[in-house]
Amino acid sequence: MIDVAVITLFPGFFSGPTGVGVVAKAVQTGAMDLSFINLREYGIGVHRQVDDAPFGGGAGMVLMPGPLADAIESRLDTHKVLLTPAGRPLRQSTLDRLAGYEALTLVCGRYEGVDERFVEEFVDEEVSLGDFVLAGGDAAALAVIEGVARLLPSVLGNPRSLDNESFRDGLLEEPQYTRPAVFRGRSVPEVLVSGDHGRIETWREAQRVERTRERRPDLLA
Ligand code: SAM
Repeated sequence: MIDVAVITLFPGFFSGPTGVGVVAKAVQTGAMDLSFINLREYGIGVHRQVDDAPFGGGAGMVLMPGPLADAIESRLDTHKVLLTPAGRPLRQSTLDRLAGYEALTLVCGRYEGVDERFVEEFVDEEVSLGDFVLAGGDAAALAVIEGVARLLPSVLGNPRSLDNESFRDGLLEEPQYTRPAVFRGRSVPEVLVSGDHGRIETWREAQRVERTRERRPDLLA
């Protein structure tokens, strides 16, 4: 069982997506304990303030270290991950590694980001969903939760479906086809209905290499 907690200003962001599919299954089967810590509850004063203007000037607001520190207090013995565009890009290998922890705490930034002293004091790892800027870390945390959930034993119907998927061997997956054999005049590749498993595997491997070369030459490099 992996224990995952999310520190966020918007716990409601997660209610739909974590109630369906592999995340719901992981929670229902006890493979994942998923909880949310509402940062607002740790805000200061009657207005539960969690952010303030940046020292040195500039646009926007920064999440103050105090409320974040109080919110993470009960999770100090977990692996603490801040979602931020300044982090290392999220890879399948990142998810494989994160799925191996007993307990994760995912910290979602908002506004212009998080006071760096909180990061220095509490954060073990910074992870980015990609080279773009979202309004908050919640979508990135959700990506981590779903990516981890599907790796947990007992969650996927057929664990072998993890074996051949994109990135496992450094390649993108080959194109997939199912019924009908002809759709709007387009037939599935002949080899896939040949029954010749050797030819099928050779074709799939060639497709994986070709797709990766075309779309993601950086993976081959
Ligand atoms: N000022 C920041 C910058 O230029 O890097 C962007 C802050 S962003 C508007 C607010 C929050 O969204 C961030 O603190 C982070 O938690 C989250 N966020 C935005 N883009 C992200 C990404 N690509 N990956 C992970 N988290 C992201």
